[in-house]
Amino acid sequence: MTKIIDGKKVSADIKEEIKIEIEKITESGQRAPGLAVIIVGENPASKVYVNSKAKTCNALGMYSEKHVLDAEITEEELLKLIEGLNNKEKIDGILVQLPLPKHIDEDKIIEAIKPEKDVDGFHPINLGKLVIGKNGFKSCTPYGIMELLERYEIDLNGKDVVVVGRSNIVGKPLGIMLTKANATVTICHSRTKNLSEKTLNADIVIVAIGREKFLTEDMVKKGAVVIDVGINRDASGKLCGDVDYENVSKKTSLITPVPGGVGPMTIAMLMKNTVKSRMEKI
Ligand code: NAP
Repeated sequence: MTKIIDGKKVSADIKEEIKIEIEKITESGQRAPGLAVIIVGENPASKVYVNSKAKTCNALGMYSEKHVLDAEITEEELLKLIEGLNNKEKIDGILVQLPLPKHIDEDKIIEAIKPEKDVDGFHPINLGKLVIGKNGFKSCTPYGIMELLERYEIDLNGKDVVVVGRSNIVGKPLGIMLTKANATVTICHSRTKNLSEKTLNADIVIVAIGREKFLTEDMVKKGAVVIDVGINRDASGKLCGDVDYENVSKKTSLITPVPGGVGPMTIAMLMKNTVKSRMEKI
């Protein structure tokens, strides 16, 4: 019978651990970790994410700042704000909610964040460190997936893992993390030929593409582990992933639901990275 990987529960456990760590920091007379979140424009999904990040910070006893900027703000103004936060003592992490309006160069903004405060793990320095196995910030969604696999004691050693999606924030860093954990990784994308053949042979399939019900029952072998990263809305507006959960879950040994799987882990790992940043200064 399939077992559900409960990201909500695991993320709650991680947040509880973080809360204790923060209490230890403040009880020793040191300041709490601080996170600055920047949002540009009125994207409703981004607003929800930013508010929930700020709420989580407060619940864990962290200091947080929310910078809500007009969609018309210039790139220079945004860069100036980041520079100020880079130099602000009580800020350990800076997060710029993506996507940004088209007139702002996202790469330039990411690169403006000090790598030591890049708790999203998107800066080329942190991605480079990940590639060569040095200590840096790991991008939160793949980091959260690795944590889920570990806490559910899913053995990766020598396992065949297929990752569908090759974005800089999910697929690529995840491929590196899985390889480091001794899995044999195949990264697939929109130009991959015979995708089903690849997913059918995999012990673990991870889908991060943003297409509702993309991974179907006939694409997965019996007993496989399936991780669904996608966040989509179906025709009725209900949140759903990239996996046809109802049918795929009949074949899997373990599977993440949407919502309640990978999603809650991303915020938990962001908090973990912010505490890591603070600890490195103590
Ligand atoms: P992205 O930047 O749009 O990248 C999508 C990837 O999927 C690309 O590599 C693309 O291939 C591939 N792809 C698209 N259609 C495909 C197809 N038919 N067959 C095979 N590959 C295909 O997306 P992303 O930012 O990684 O996000 C992916 C999904 O995860 C979205 O639903 C997003 O909302 C969700 N997400 C969730 C979290 C979370 O916290 N749970 C965090 C981040 C993202 P090409 O490279 O060839 O174009």
